[in-house]
Formats: sequence, C-alpha cells, structure tokens
Amino acid sequence: MKTKYIFITGGVASSLGKGIISASLGKLLQARGYKITIQKFDPYINIDPGTLNPYEHGECYVTADGMETDLDLGHYERFTGIETTRDNSVTTGKIYLSVIEKERKGDYLGKTIQVVPHITDEIKRRIRLNASKEDFDFVITEIGGTIGDIESQPFLEAIRQLRWELGSENSLNVHLTYVPYLAAAGELKTKPTQTSVKQIQGLGIQPEVLVLRTEHELSADLKAKVAHFCNVDVKAVIQSQDLPSIYEVPVNMQQQGFDEVILTKMGITPGEKPPLGPWRNFLERRKNATKEIHIGLVGKYDLQDAYKSILESLAHAGVYNDRKVKVKFINSEKITKDNVFEQLDGMSGIVICPGFGQRGIEGKIIAAEYTRKNNIPTFGICLGMQMMVVEFARNVLGYADADSSEMNPSTSHNVIDIMEEQKNITQMGGTMRLGAYECELLKGSRTWQAYGEKSLIKERHRHRYEFNNKFLQEFEANGMICSGKNPGTGLVEIVEIPSHKWYIGTQFHPEYSSTVLNPHPLFLSFIKTCIYGTVEA
Ligand code: GLN
Repeated sequence: MKTKYIFITGGVASSLGKGIISASLGKLLQARGYKITIQKFDPYINIDPGTLNPYEHGECYVTADGMETDLDLGHYERFTGIETTRDNSVTTGKIYLSVIEKERKGDYLGKTIQVVPHITDEIKRRIRLNASKEDFDFVITEIGGTIGDIESQPFLEAIRQLRWELGSENSLNVHLTYVPYLAAAGELKTKPTQTSVKQIQGLGIQPEVLVLRTEHELSADLKAKVAHFCNVDVKAVIQSQDLPSIYEVPVNMQQQGFDEVILTKMGITPGEKPPLGPWRNFLERRKNATKEIHIGLVGKYDLQDAYKSILESLAHAGVYNDRKVKVKFINSEKITKDNVFEQLDGMSGIVICPGFGQRGIEGKIIAAEYTRKNNIPTFGICLGMQMMVVEFARNVLGYADADSSEMNPSTSHNVIDIMEEQKNITQMGGTMRLGAYECELLKGSRTWQAYGEKSLIKERHRHRYEFNNKFLQEFEANGMICSGKNPGTGLVEIVEIPSHKWYIGTQFHPEYSSTVLNPHPLFLSFIKTCIYGTVEA
C-alpha cells in the first residue's frame, strides 16, 4: 500500500488535545493491522525542546535513539507501544538549521534562499522522511500550535502543497477546534469553529474531518450546522468530550467512527471495528481499581506536565496492581529536616524526581534520608538517584561534603561526577548522555527480580553526571550496591539497598518506556511493594 498522510492541525486555542487525538488515531489504525508512525512538527525555533524550561513546555521526552522531544511523543508511544525516533520530532529550528547548512555548503548553487520554496521543501522532505526509510501505511503528522500563529504558516503551506502532490486518497486533514459553552446563554457556540475552518480554508486546506473539543455533549443539530458551514460530511464531525481518562479517547473515537470516516475518505473499505480487547481490559481494570495508594512525588516543579511520563507510569503500574494511584506533589524546596515527617506523612512510597541544578536538591536529600531510615519504598530517578547516592555518602559513609560536582564542583567527595567526555563540552543542546543504553543486571538483586530475571536490559538516559566508580567499593561495603551497570563502560546505572524494602535509584529514565499495554517492570514492582510491603505478595 502506498503511504497515506494524515495531518492533524488545531485552531481556536492550544491545549485542546491534538497529541491525544493523534495518538488515538494511531492506536485505532494500528488495531486494524496498519503499520503507522506518528510525528510532531513544532513551529518554534529551538532545535529541540531539550533546553526548554518545563514550565514553558512540560516534560522533555527522550526517544530510544537519543532525541530530546516534545512530550506528545510520550503519548504516541504509550498509546501505540511503537518506539518513535529522532525523525518523529521536528521544529522550525531543525528545518532552518538544515537549510542554512546546505546553503553554506553551496548546495543551492547561488540561488536566493526563501521560505517558499526552500523552507517549505525541507518541511515536505521531513514529513516524508520516515516513510522513505520504512514502509508505513500511514504517517500521522501533528502540527504543534494553532493555525493562526505566524510561525505555523510555512508548515501549513507545505501541507497544502503536499496534499496537492499526493492527491486526495493519499492525504487528509483532521482539524481540531473548540466549542465553548456560554453558561449565561446556556449555549454551545460554533462560531469559533466556523472561523477557524474559514481561516485554514484561506490557506488552501479544506479539512476532511473536524474534531470538536467540548465540555458538553454536542447535539446532532449542532454537528449538522458545523458540517454545513464547513464543507464536511456530518459523519466527519466528531466530538471530543472531556473523559475521565485520556486512555478512553481511542474507544470513544472508535464509537463515533473516527477511523472509519478517515479510511473511507482515503479510498479504503473499513471493514469490521477491531475489538480493542487488551485496551478495553486495561480500561475496565482501571475503572475497578478504586482502592487508593498514595505516592509522594518529590520534585521542584509543582506542575503536572513537568513529570508527565512518571505520572503515567505510576498510573499504569497502579492499574495492573488494581489500585488508583493518588499522587501528592511535594515541593522539594519546602522540605526541611523539621517538616519532612509531615510532608511525607501518609505516603506509601515516594519518587524522587529527575532535574537539573541546585534548586530543591537539599529537600530531595532530606527525603531520601528519611525514607531510607524509615524503610519507606523509594524510587529515585536520574537526579533522584544521584541524590540518594549523595545522601548515603553524607550520612552513612560520613562524608559531610559529599556532593554531585554539578552542585559543588570543588567537593573532595564527588560521589556523582561529570563524565570525562563531557568535560570540554560547552554547548548546552543535545550534548548529554541521551537515549537507550544497555544495562547488565546483578543476578539476585531486587531490580533483577523486578525485570523478570533478565540479565540485560536497555533504558533511556538524559544526563551529564554519573556515579563516581572511585567510591563504589565503599558504598557496597556499607550496604548500597550497584545492581545494574553499563556492560561497555562499567558505569553504574542502578543502585539499591538490599536490606531495605525497596530503595532503588536508576540513572536512566524508566518512565519513558512504560506503555498502557506494557507497564514498566520497575514501576510495577515499586507500586506492589508500596501496597503490600513486599513484592512476594
Ligand atoms: N542533572 C543531572 C545530570 O545531568 C540529572 C539529570 C536528570 O535528572 N535528567 O546528570
């Protein structure tokens, strides 16, 4: 089958859930046996979101091949279970960078370089890049931002051209809008949708399918009105109403015939609706998991999106342990020796979050000490693991000045230190240890058990600093062992305290690879221990 391209655009407002709609569509097509990939094109100028503050853009997600990307790629992977790659995340910055590099090399032979055709050609090339390497039936491309944004224009122009070149059976546009409810008038309003569709039509793109985000059920009349004003079939007006969980969206979209409308428009007879059995089982189990388990998230960002993948991984692990995970954000800047008991009170376990820089680290260290001494299950991720190590060095090994050289470059007990290869790097973007690396597990360790007694695993990284092996023997002699190391370099990837219920820190980010149908083994084992006090239950 020739690759078919589906573009997902948004209008009226941002944050309407284009990422979830894209991921859901991917899931539905995948369930019909199609080979799919989902990619995100972001109109901002940063080369990648790696240098962006999580307050601006939420979590930075990392692909197995080491690209720092938008958090929507996390949704794509969690929904479809298909790994994305560096070519699934493109920004204006990346587009311009390659055009400028080509210009400097002289590839354009004296031509004036312009937005049209050079930038738009590069966007089109990138849109087709994944399919030029692998045979995909469908490539779903989500365009970040909204169609009115100045910076979106080259992307929309590229889509317009591409649709023309590909023909109507091989390309399609799904446009997502918002239908506000005016409480005073008691009415849902379609005008913003009409205006948004007019705007995208003005750019030469006629959406074939409209997804209307709404807080209230849309009547048949309202859908007919939208269809009438926007040149789409009534059947192609789909509502996206707020649901109890994002994971219900694929099922809800399927019920409305979202994938069927798309397939039909692209010249394919849809056939039977796939049953989505395992997915529905997950939803059923989720619904029945009413008993709660309380987990404290110790980190410096008190905003949901900053720890998106961790929250989702905890939720997955909760469902498979028949529990509803209630997460309490515990701002690490506010944790002191005096209040740590209160702050962590009622938590069955804590996660010490990743991060960069000084802010809030003392609170992480205090939390790590408290849970170590009180045998409370603790999961340290990246910086969280590093702070577990620093705490152990200070309070068990007795090195009061122990630190990570990220925080104190002159400490004589640099138990976490910068890697040799990182020392001379001055550029910030894309220069960390990024992407999946192998890790050899220590037989008999808790981590090894959690991973189903596998000897070799692969997990994704995003950091500059590492456990300093100079101190390893001393740590191990005093009860904190290395239970996972990189087979090539000997770098410590996992530490654990075997005498503790569950005290594990990973230098990598397990949260990037937990999916709905494949929850992550470490999160499963962590939550299980939080519930029963042991994994043997
Ligand atoms: N700041 C630490 C480092 O660079 C940890 C990074 C992280 O938590 N992702 O090594």
